[in-house]
Amino acid sequence: MPEGHTIHRLARDLNGDLAGDVLRVSSPQGRVPTETVDGARFERAEAVGKHLFLHFPDACLHVHLGLFGRFRRRKLNGAPPRDTIRLRLEGPRYAWELSGATASDWVDEHDISALLERIGPDPLSPRAKPKLAWEMIHRSKRPLAALLLDQRVMAGVGNVYRAEILHLLGLHPELPGNELSQATFQKLWRLTKKLLARGVEEKTIRTVDKPSDRTKREALHVYGRSSCRNCKGRVVRVTLGQRDIHYCPRCQPREGE
Ligand SMILES: [Zn+2]
Repeated sequence: MPEGHTIHRLARDLNGDLAGDVLRVSSPQGRVPTETVDGARFERAEAVGKHLFLHFPDACLHVHLGLFGRFRRRKLNGAPPRDTIRLRLEGPRYAWELSGATASDWVDEHDISALLERIGPDPLSPRAKPKLAWEMIHRSKRPLAALLLDQRVMAGVGNVYRAEILHLLGLHPELPGNELSQATFQKLWRLTKKLLARGVEEKTIRTVDKPSDRTKREALHVYGRSSCRNCKGRVVRVTLGQRDIHYCPRCQPREGE
């Protein structure tokens, strides 16, 4: 599943290609009604956590890519779009095509507020209030790894980032939220913000400051690895928050902080 950096980058690229332009909007698959926005000026794309909002003057489309959704830039070559395309936004220079998304629904102000109320602060948003995430973590006995994946606590962190963030902070994934100190939470927030912002720039997840080579795994410390990049010890997998997490028992001892 795409993590928050992917959606923020997508919003940036959509804005670079299409914001302010009059678009031809269609749904070759027929699943999204497009009559009211076809020929309208596209205002902007906005990312909040893993949610994407496409703003038109009189309408807003909410998109969640889920596991299989893709939103891709296409050159304008006159070829008709495939009938599996959920939504096509065609501007003067490029078209963008959405397929396979979990959600693609027109929403009003009320729907947007209700949706935003259900998700926690997004470290990439300048308006984010980290205190809200801290309060939820501090009150909870759930394992920290499950809390980090819970979009109601903090928006944008997915399975790769949570494993790497906990490793970089030396925190055991099963540490209960209420045993995390506020000082460590502040470090966690700052680190998450830094790593997600780097992900937006580089369009990939890199948590190693200076990778030794270009392979993806060398950009990470524990995720998807059999040995820890830091101590070379064996990496362990446990299921937390319905997903497997990798951690290094040596670098992330159970005693916690
Ligand atoms: Zn280690």
